[in-house]
Parts: sequence; C-alpha cells; structure tokens
Amino acid sequence: MPSALITGITGQDGLYLAELLTSKGYDVHAIIRGQNNPKLELVQRLLPDVRLHTGDLTDLSSLMRAMRDAKPDEVYNLGAVSFVAYSWENAQVTSDVTGLGVLNMLEAVRLYAGDDPSKVRYYQASSSEMFGKVQAVPQNESTLLWPRSPYGVAKVYGHYMTINYRESYGMHASSGILFNHESPRRGPEFVTRKVSRAVARIKLGLQESITMGNLDAKRDWGFAGDYVEAMWLMLQQDEAEDYVISTGETHSIRELLDAAFAHVGIEDWSDLVLQDPRFMRPAEVDLLIGDSAKAHEKLGWKPKVSFEELVAMMVENDLTEQKVLAGL
Ligand code: NDP
Repeated sequence: MPSALITGITGQDGLYLAELLTSKGYDVHAIIRGQNNPKLELVQRLLPDVRLHTGDLTDLSSLMRAMRDAKPDEVYNLGAVSFVAYSWENAQVTSDVTGLGVLNMLEAVRLYAGDDPSKVRYYQASSSEMFGKVQAVPQNESTLLWPRSPYGVAKVYGHYMTINYRESYGMHASSGILFNHESPRRGPEFVTRKVSRAVARIKLGLQESITMGNLDAKRDWGFAGDYVEAMWLMLQQDEAEDYVISTGETHSIRELLDAAFAHVGIEDWSDLVLQDPRFMRPAEVDLLIGDSAKAHEKLGWKPKVSFEELVAMMVENDLTEQKVLAGL
C-alpha cells in the first residue's frame, strides 16, 4: 500500500486530496498544526482513516519527526498562508510559512530520503498568483513570473526552491502552478465563496446586499476536486516536472456575480452589490488565464466541472447551509 503525507489537510485542497488518495488505497498521513486546531473535528469526521501528526511548516524538527513516523512515498505540500489580501498586512508570517516553509519541508524530505534522494516524490503547491503583472496571455510554464503581493513573492520563492532541490539533489520534486480553484469547501474569505454565501443569504432574506472590490478583475476558476487529481498525476510520472493547471477560460468578478445571482433567479443585481475601495488590492492581478497544454498532453488531465456548474454547486451548498444555520 503506498503512503502519502499531506500538509494543509484542514484546507480545501487537503480534504479533497486526502479523499482521493484514500479512495486509491493509500495509507494517508497528514500534518495538523496547533495544540487545539478548531478544524481537527472536521478532519476526523470526514477522514477517519487519515493518521494525523502535529507539526508546523515553520518548525523543521516537527516536519522531520512527521516524515520519520509517516515514512511516506509521496509528500504533498499544500500548507500555506494562502489568502492574498491578508498577505499585505501579514507579509512576514506569509513569507515564513508560504516561502520558508517550503524550504523546511524540502529539507525534511531530503534528510529523510538520505542516500536515495528520489525515493520520496514531492508536490509543491505553486500558484498562478506568481504571474501577477502578467507578461503573456495565456500563461504557461515558461511565462516570466512577476508576483504582485507578498503571497505571490513567497510562492515564487517556494517554486524556485522546489526546482532547485530537484536540480541540486536529484529529488523527484514537482511544482503545480495551479490557477484559482474553488468548491463548497472554499474558505469564506475568498471571493467566490463570499459571493456564493451572500447570494444564498440574500435569496433567503437573511442579508440585504454584498460589498465588493474590483468587479473587473479576471480569474481562471476551476473545481478543486478536479485539480487535486492533477497533483496526484504529477507524482505518478517518471520525471518530476512543473505543470500549469487551469481551465483556459477567464471570467470577471462581474460574471461570477451574474452566474451566482442567476442561479437563484435574480437577473438584475445592480442594487444588491455595493463597491468599497477598501476591498481593492493595493496591486491587482488583472488577467489570469492558464495554458494547460502540457498537463493535457503529458498527464492526460483535463478539468471536468465548468464555471457555471461550479458556481451552481457552491450556491446550492450555501443555500442548504444557510437554511440550517437560520433554522429555516
Ligand atoms: P487553504 O487556505 O484552504 O488551506 C491552507 C492550509 O495550510 C490549511 O490547512 C492551514 O492549516 C495550513 N497552514 C497554514 N499555516 C500553516 C503552518 N504554519 N504550518 C502548517 N500548515 C499551515 O488553501 P487551499 O486548500 O485552497 O490551497 C492549498 C495550497 O494550494 C496552498 O498552498 C495555496 O496557497 C495553494 N494554491 C491554492 C489555490 C486555490 O485557488 N485554492 C491556487 C493556487 C495555489 P490551519 O487550518 O491550521 O490554518
């Protein structure tokens, strides 16, 4: 039975990936941080077979201990301070976790692997936010990186450190440059979930309006369940490489609002959406659209869930959740 160690198990992708690996018969281990993590219960309920190890990406010795105890064949480093807006106000902790945390995880893998550096396969969660001030449309694996936030800068560090460990030590380390991916499990601070939840609450009469930032920003949004499959496929290849994972379609926040309100039967949302400059990014990423030709060709990977299906799935989930919470 192959074994895997996941960081970021309490996050959106960690949960989907653990479910995928469990369904494939893996012995799944995961690192969970903090002495009383509020999401521990959720992980134990959804994934009773996953073995949890306490650890933190800023604490190398805890990662080394987790590697020693889990003895994984594959490591998926998904842990990060991942909210771009938060990263401007918390640039140092973002750099420590999202940037230096990658170095710690790579070191823990390298030290564990000893004389056989490629015995553990490593996945790094890189991000389309590394493209920032985009230098080409669409963006692929060779597009120049120009990050526009402390989060993006930290991800660039982790991305190049992964490549460097592959080239310096012969590690089987791959980096997935994933474009935005969403689901009903997306944190409520992220724009898609903020919209799906607010639209559900407006429909149910629990909220009057939603306050947004830049409605013209464009993103390439896919479904997280599809994207974790690409992570797994990358580690099944003989050669470790980097891959862009995206839908190849871009949509504005305005289109996201159109789709979410349309799903609950509201065509004209102009009076329901307020704009506040406080929700604008200090430096915006204007047009993210990925070119996943390499992943299509080498991994045989393609997204299955469309933008409209994704938005509908998220709004439906929030309608159900909000009804329960409000006792409706
Ligand atoms: P989430 O924000 O949902 O999850 C982040 C995870 O990182 C949580 O489990 C969190 O744990 C953990 N974490 C935070 N700080 C630490 C730390 N110091 N040590 C160990 N773990 C820590 O992210 P997603 O699941 O959406 O994303 C997974 C990865 O993919 C992240 O690295 C993200 O940056 C990257 N990514 C995501 C994209 C997306 O659209 N979702 C796009 C491209 C890349 P806790 O619950 O304890 O805080």
